Amino acid sequence: MLPGPFMQVWEDTQQQATIDDVRRLPDSAWQPVGRRDASFGYTSSAYWLRLQLHNPQAKSMDWVLLIGNPLLDYLDAYGLDGERVYRSGDQRPFAARWIEHRQLLLPLHLAAGESRKLILRMQTEGSANLSASLMTSATFNHHEQRMLLLQGLFFGALAAMLIYNLSIFVITRDRNYFWYSLFVASFGCYQFIQLGFALQWLWPNSLGWHQLSFPLSSAVTTLFGILFTYGVLDLKHASPRYTQVVNVLLGCTWLVIGLCVFGPYQAALFGSFVLVVACAALACLFTLLRWREGYKPARLFAIGWFVLIAASLFSILSGTGLIANSLLTLHAQQIGGLIELTVFSIALAVRIRQAQSAQQLAQARLFAKEHQLRVEQARRTELQKQINDGLELRVTERTAALEQALSELSVAHQQLSELNRRDGLTGLFNHQTLTEELQRIQAQAMRSQRPMAILMMDLDHFKQVNDHYGHLAGDACLQHAAQRLQQRLRSSDLLARFGGEEFVAVLSDTDPAGAYDLAAQLRNDLALHPCTYQGQTISLTISIGVCAGLPDSADSEQLLQQADQALYRAKAAGRNRVESGQLA
Ligand code: GH3
Ligand code: MG
Ligand code: MG
Repeated sequence: MLPGPFMQVWEDTQQQATIDDVRRLPDSAWQPVGRRDASFGYTSSAYWLRLQLHNPQAKSMDWVLLIGNPLLDYLDAYGLDGERVYRSGDQRPFAARWIEHRQLLLPLHLAAGESRKLILRMQTEGSANLSASLMTSATFNHHEQRMLLLQGLFFGALAAMLIYNLSIFVITRDRNYFWYSLFVASFGCYQFIQLGFALQWLWPNSLGWHQLSFPLSSAVTTLFGILFTYGVLDLKHASPRYTQVVNVLLGCTWLVIGLCVFGPYQAALFGSFVLVVACAALACLFTLLRWREGYKPARLFAIGWFVLIAASLFSILSGTGLIANSLLTLHAQQIGGLIELTVFSIALAVRIRQAQSAQQLAQARLFAKEHQLRVEQARRTELQKQINDGLELRVTERTAALEQALSELSVAHQQLSELNRRDGLTGLFNHQTLTEELQRIQAQAMRSQRPMAILMMDLDHFKQVNDHYGHLAGDACLQHAAQRLQQRLRSSDLLARFGGEEFVAVLSDTDPAGAYDLAAQLRNDLALHPCTYQGQTISLTISIGVCAGLPDSADSEQLLQQADQALYRAKAAGRNRVESGQLA
């Protein structure tokens, strides 16, 4: 049963009134308490509350008035049990409590049919709300067992999350787990303090510290919450605006922490509440922005933040008295926090999964890139090879063409030099060649001591042939004579056109008799075979001067002169004959 509506209140703004002053107050001074939780918000007044208790039953009853707000600084109760005054609150040593409990418990014994007036004085720098529940001792015991089990589960869950995430941090060295672990730990401390466990178990006599520990734990939780959110939403790699805002928030957080330690309690309390609201709202906004930017883990965070914000708003609104305090509001933040922390834990795991797949993706991209590079390289090598092959082919082609051209040039050169050695009309060696060859053959004959011969030949009365048949016929006769002479000679012999209608034959390895014999044959042959030109038969004769023997000097002029002299004799002797001359 919530006794709020059955209570009356008198606000002592000066905080000076004693119980006697209050007892003397007229009934008109007392106002009915409108709210079931007797909540008056954050004020500096002391509140006097009075409650008429009556046991209508025929047996005595044990009641318990449970004050749900363990952070009340001072709570005094009059008329509980005889004249004993109950003085308690978290600004009095824990031992002052009649029942050792994290919350303020007022035992009430009412005899059968007894009525009693209960007067309470509440004064606190925090939220002035009584959140009182009146229940029988049996109901309280039952309620207490359930609450302890639930609180055990809550803190057990936080401890499990803390140990689990701290282990993950130790293994992975991912800082987000570290901040998350500290976030969980500080949130646990905050709840431990808020629910009254800290004063009961940790610092039952450190009242100053206990007072500041509440806003301090809230600010520290906010600090780690900011650091965790900053990391897990990956704000560092998003817009720099986030970092700027987060730095401002961190600065404010440190300011509030300083305020908690050194400043006035109410300012610290107010600062820490404002900070929590601001940070929660900004965290919510950033989460939504990151979600919109396509950062997937942000979705789960959004759920977590909404739960926490809803729970915190619920809790803060009940603290300010805007909504009624109840067991649900007292534990809303706890339940919301637990859900939020669980969701965050899942979100962290999702983040790991995402990081893993991002790494896999990066790896796959790297492999693809490497493959592409290899293909590129292979293509380049192939291209280089093709270029080389093409070059080689072209070089070979060009070389072959060059060689071809060179050999053609060489053939042409040979042909040219051969042409230079020949007479244009008859095809016989010319005078120049004769001179060169004669010296060579003469030297050879001298070395080998073998005889040689020279035949100097001149067509008879050739001027008359020209005059009679024409110059072209004369040319044809010259060609005919050259052909007839040539075919009688050995391949080793040399026949040249000496000039005009004169021919010279150089016979190696030939003695005078042989030379004379050959000359006679030549003369005879030409006489027997006249030249035929355009149906006309032109008879030709030739006179030959022979000079043969073993040459004793290298002077070829002399040889030719000897032969010429013999020829002259043949002409003089009547032509168409052979005359021999001796080598000197
Ligand atoms: P001989 O019996 O004394 O040798 O009398 P010949 O007329 O043969 O002698 P000559 O030296 O007086 O005349 C040579 C002639 O040969 C003169 C020239 O017309 C002719 N002759 C020289 N070279 C050529 C030639 O290349 N073609 C032609 N058609 N006639 C030539
Ligand atoms: Mg002549
Ligand atoms: Mg002549």
